[in-house]
Amino acid sequence: MHSEASDRQVLENDLRQAIDKGELWVAYQPIVRAAGEEVCGFEALVRWSHPARGPISPDKFIPLAEECGLIARISTWVLDTALEEAARWPEQVRIAVNLSPIQFNDPGIVETVANALAKSGVRAARLELEITEGVFLAEGETTDETFANLKKLGVRLALDDFGTGYSSLGYLKKAPFDKIKIDQSFVRGAASSTSRNSAIIRAIVTLAESLKMDTCAEGVETHDDLDLIRELGCSQVQGYIFGRPVRGEEAREQAGRSTAVPDGYQSSREPRHRLMRRAIASIGGQTREVRMRNISAMGALVECADPVAPGTQITMDIVGAGPATGTVRWAQSGKFGIQFTDAFDLSRLAPKKEIGNKVQMLRPWYVDQKQAS
Ligand code: C2E
Ligand code: CA
Ligand code: CA
Repeated sequence: MHSEASDRQVLENDLRQAIDKGELWVAYQPIVRAAGEEVCGFEALVRWSHPARGPISPDKFIPLAEECGLIARISTWVLDTALEEAARWPEQVRIAVNLSPIQFNDPGIVETVANALAKSGVRAARLELEITEGVFLAEGETTDETFANLKKLGVRLALDDFGTGYSSLGYLKKAPFDKIKIDQSFVRGAASSTSRNSAIIRAIVTLAESLKMDTCAEGVETHDDLDLIRELGCSQVQGYIFGRPVRGEEAREQAGRSTAVPDGYQSSREPRHRLMRRAIASIGGQTREVRMRNISAMGALVECADPVAPGTQITMDIVGAGPATGTVRWAQSGKFGIQFTDAFDLSRLAPKKEIGNKVQMLRPWYVDQKQAS
């Protein structure tokens, strides 16, 4: 406990000096319009490059800054830096800045925002302040007044990490949000057939639309999730598929381009390993010889000369590895995809070698291979 406390003390002292020493910097992550893929804004995300410890996550040092009273200084600096950067972008590109609940409930916050806008010359409507549900927990006497005064300034307000907190709908009625940011935990992997998240996202989008609010899906990494998010009607997308947080110079270049290009894996399924192995499959009571082309713990791609309908239950006896059961998810031109009922242990495919009297498993090459088509 003692060493933890003194470590914290050291970090706190380091953080006190970090601004003056130029160790803090701001990264910018693009926010893209779902329909046309235009970059409509960037979120400012603070970074700390510690000279000895390397990069320290804001998840760690923002709470520390709040506890030791440094948050006002840091957030004023982030606001000034981000607005100065946004002043160089095209007029239609917005800048989003995070405000922690403690900052939001600081009586000086409206003045801080007004000063930062005046200094940078950026129109208030281009600034979006991201606030989490935590604001309502720490609700003080001035919370309602702060909302009203920020709206009077003309800035936009976004409700961040929606769905992770207490999600009382009461404050959606009360507080004048312009946008709901749907938390990554609902977005990532939402396209998987077993996920219930798409129903939740659909409900949030319907709610936001009837309240005339935009929606932004956070943490989109794969093409499958991007397609789904579009289908569900989210108006904006943020995530690694359109870009990671980058330095100001790079953001400036991105802001100047007309559209962003999605770049990521097709889906968030388990990495697949290529293989060529025969199996005897029992398909609707008939026995067929099939060839397996790739496999993961979740499923496999199988070649089969006979037509197979999606939804069919299959039991396969894989040569050298034994039985596996599952359901056909799709079938097309002599191939089908099977989803295993229970996770398949890939080490069952390992070639076995006899050393003395002992049978030893050898690690096959495809267990180490990252991703194969
Ligand atoms: P947040 O506001 O929810 O910011 C989004 C976080 O998700 C960022 O992490 C971002 O890098 C990450 N992210 C975005 N897209 C993807 C994706 O596709 N996949 C994955 N795996 N991650 C993605 P980061 O920068 O580490 O920030 C963490 C949190 O720290 C932020 O969460 C925010 O709550 C806080 N934070 C960051 N900068 C500031 C700041 O200037 N002020 C305050 N008060 N809080 C900040
Ligand atoms: Ca945020
Ligand atoms: Ca968020």
